Amino acid sequence: MEPRRDTIAALATAPGTAAVAIVRLSGPDAGHIARRLTGIELRPRHAELCEFKAEDGTSIDRGLLLYFPAPHSYTGEEVVELHGHGGAVVTDWLLETLFGYGARPAEPGEFTLRAFLNDKLDLAQAEAVADLIDSGSRAAARAALRSLDGEFSKAVADVQESLTELRVHVEAWLDFPDEELDRDAAATLERRADALLERLDVLCAQAAQGRVLRDGLIVVIAGPPNAGKSSLLNRLAGYDAAIVTHIPGTTRDPLREHLSLDGLPVGIVDTAGLRTAADPVEAEGVKRAQRELERADRVLWISDVRDGAERAIAAAREAVGTRVPFTLVLNKVDLVAEPPGLVSHGDVAAIRLSALTGEGVELLIAHLKSLAGWSHEAAGTFSARRRHLDALERAAAHVRAARQRLGGALELGAEELRGAQAALSEVTGALTSEDLLGEIFSSFCIGK
Ligand code: GDP
Repeated sequence: MEPRRDTIAALATAPGTAAVAIVRLSGPDAGHIARRLTGIELRPRHAELCEFKAEDGTSIDRGLLLYFPAPHSYTGEEVVELHGHGGAVVTDWLLETLFGYGARPAEPGEFTLRAFLNDKLDLAQAEAVADLIDSGSRAAARAALRSLDGEFSKAVADVQESLTELRVHVEAWLDFPDEELDRDAAATLERRADALLERLDVLCAQAAQGRVLRDGLIVVIAGPPNAGKSSLLNRLAGYDAAIVTHIPGTTRDPLREHLSLDGLPVGIVDTAGLRTAADPVEAEGVKRAQRELERADRVLWISDVRDGAERAIAAAREAVGTRVPFTLVLNKVDLVAEPPGLVSHGDVAAIRLSALTGEGVELLIAHLKSLAGWSHEAAGTFSARRRHLDALERAAAHVRAARQRLGGALELGAEELRGAQAALSEVTGALTSEDLLGEIFSSFCIGK
């Protein structure tokens, strides 16, 4: 995507009545338009009290003007901020005047998009801007700020550098096809690949934590009627009395209950509709339930312990399929003479508990924390999105595949390393399609 050459304007503060409203201009004509609006000479980074005037000379408002000359501004372009009185009439009139002078309305996220296109921020940092604004907890806000400061990008860049070094070595051998790769040289390449993998695995774990901090671990509660789904949800919500309140503007999904389970942010979706339905109203419910299911990190399949684990596993497999991993919750252990506990049935983890008495619920919480790779050090992490995690995991898979080839099929190894490099570049946006950029920035608010 090419840097943009026109000048945009938008309200940067929330619309509505407020003490102050900030209108922001960015682009080559920002200074020129501000001079026409106020009639004053602009001084860089000075707050000037001045009159904002309509084209016919009428006063619209009196406020502060701040001028940030390019390239030392948020977007890297000429930027002017107009701090006026908050209120729809005044800000609308002010914007209309700016549009009359040649600015155009900014698209959602366009200021930040311009910052990205002008190399003021990389993509992970730009996403952190939105994540900081949307953060639902202080820990998430701190993590987003760390990403915005470039900590995540720097960690990715460090791994990129090691990867580039490894590629240089591998490609150097490829340049001399007559030279046999001796055992020592192969062992050196493999050692480097191992070291790289270790760092990538650490980065994946950090990004996984950062992602959970941002989105919560998304868990779907499903199972047959009367198994105790609502009881379990209530029990979890009551655990530690830690329901995370909905903060206006941050709620992404009304079906989701946001909980903090011993510090782990969890978005729980209670779905009754995981079966096929003939009636269209219910069919819509089923469709939504299926969509929720596909976006989940984990399904908790709740069943009555007295129905037996094997039957429950078969029912869960049928309803859930193979796309999302599930944990079996064998509920109502208070009704049988067996203690709560974590057991496994083949590759399925099962937790025996009682939603009614609360016995064994702590085992479920510990299980969820271990699935999320959650630890209290999470407070020191940076924010990340699922997109980042996917890219890092793909990079790790490529390096793992390359590691297998470095002893012999060097050509194929080099190809895998190129794949790893491409995957890593997606995180910071060095290699990103326009579609993806459009998708990321259109989810921002206007004026950001
Ligand atoms: P749902 O239909 O799956 O949401 O199930 P509910 O949570 O409404 O529970 C159905 C019935 O089972 C209610 O009467 C609950 O009180 C009871 N129940 C739920 N969990 C337990 C449990 O752990 N032990 C016992 N004894 N009863 C339970």
